[in-house]
Amino acid sequence: MQILDGKLVSKAIKDQIAVQVAELKAQGKKIPHLAAILVGNDGASETYVASKVKSCAEIGYNSTLLRFDSQISEKHLLDNINMLNENPDIDGILVQLPLPKHINEELVINTIDPSKDVDGFHPMNVGKMVSGLPTFIPATPYGIMLMLEHYNIDTKGKHAVVIGRSHIVGTPMSILLSRNSNPGNCTVTLTHSHTKNLKELCLQADIVVAAIGKPEFVTADMVKEGAIVIDVGINRIPDASKKSGFRLVGDVKFDEVSPRSSYITPVPGGVGPMTIAALLKNTYHAAIGQKGNQN
Ligand code: NAD
Repeated sequence: MQILDGKLVSKAIKDQIAVQVAELKAQGKKIPHLAAILVGNDGASETYVASKVKSCAEIGYNSTLLRFDSQISEKHLLDNINMLNENPDIDGILVQLPLPKHINEELVINTIDPSKDVDGFHPMNVGKMVSGLPTFIPATPYGIMLMLEHYNIDTKGKHAVVIGRSHIVGTPMSILLSRNSNPGNCTVTLTHSHTKNLKELCLQADIVVAAIGKPEFVTADMVKEGAIVIDVGINRIPDASKKSGFRLVGDVKFDEVSPRSSYITPVPGGVGPMTIAALLKNTYHAAIGQKGNQN
């Protein structure tokens, strides 16, 4: 069993981007600038946005964090997005999800200028991704593709079972894995909450991607010997021994699944850091006006 080390791979990607940023600086060119919007005080969202902003600083990007109270009106939020759309210094815009219930997430995503939509959630970018055209690919599935590529994992002809069909993870993951590309060329089964024979399907999988949001949902009896296991889940479970009162676990029961797997991502330290590396890559492409992500 080999651990797919997201910290290590994301560091390699970030180091590479830092060199590219230094080159832009040396040539007197514009430095990539990411704007992040955070609404409310959700603990997990705060952590994710903080690490995105910190990563920008580490590699030499400029970043702006706009924070709003959870009571912000939809109009005020949209006005701010439009301001960022019109600001030529801003290359990438991300709105940390989820948003408070009174705000229409779809409207917010549709308001972001597609050329600055570094999360790749705008329908125009989703359409391009489905068509195999160069575009911004949603950061989590893009990060997973970069991880598979880094470890030179041969996915061709493999059966991938993706658990979860969200727009940000499961659905784009299924599209990317089924593409005629490397990594890719998998036969993909996309499963969800209405799938009847999930265990049976998982047992046929050469690659399992778990993106469900249920702690330790995937157990050893669901995984074939030698499978590649990608755990997207980030779940907080109570842990009195921690100062924070919780610890993070994935959607996979790591202790029992890892001995059966050929490769597995840990939580934390697997897909999470790769998501940030992918976001930074998308932001670089936005800044130089080139969308090259066609994995
Ligand atoms: P979501 O809640 O939007 O989607 C969950 C999906 O799981 C749904 O499509 C649902 O149909 C499916 N599902 C629920 N119960 C199921 C069951 N019993 N059997 C099969 N499918 C079932 O979640 P999401 O936004 O895709 O996130 C999933 C997990 O990944 C969460 O833990 C989230 O925190 C984590 N996440 C991690 C990263 C990262 O960077 N590592 C990024 C995004 C999300």
